[in-house]
Amino acid sequence: MTEAKALSHLKQELKNKLESQLREWKKPFLTPLERDDCKNEIDLVARLIEFRTEASLHQKSTTQLREIQSALRRMENGNFGKCIRCTSQIPIKRLFAIPTAAFCIQCQSQNRS
Ligand SMILES: [Zn+2]
Repeated sequence: MTEAKALSHLKQELKNKLESQLREWKKPFLTPLERDDCKNEIDLVARLIEFRTEASLHQKSTTQLREIQSALRRMENGNFGKCIRCTSQIPIKRLFAIPTAAFCIQCQSQNRS
């Protein structure tokens, strides 16, 4: 696979990811008190627990959206595939595994520590 082909493949993959994330976002997101299917307190507690799970999923999807957005932006700027810290080339293998990767492996591990 040529580099250009690999890049357009990754771009498509990112766009698909973005679309599926956006589908998640379009789902109605109601707080337990806005929903009218709570018959009693037990129901309400169940809805509250559900809500917390949904909220944390939502949080996760916000992070993912942000990562996808910045990856697509880097693609437009021609900086895709370069580490945003040390600007070294991120191996294409790593990009295929994590298309939103913004750091090379070395900088990524430094970020964690
Ligand atoms: Zn780096």
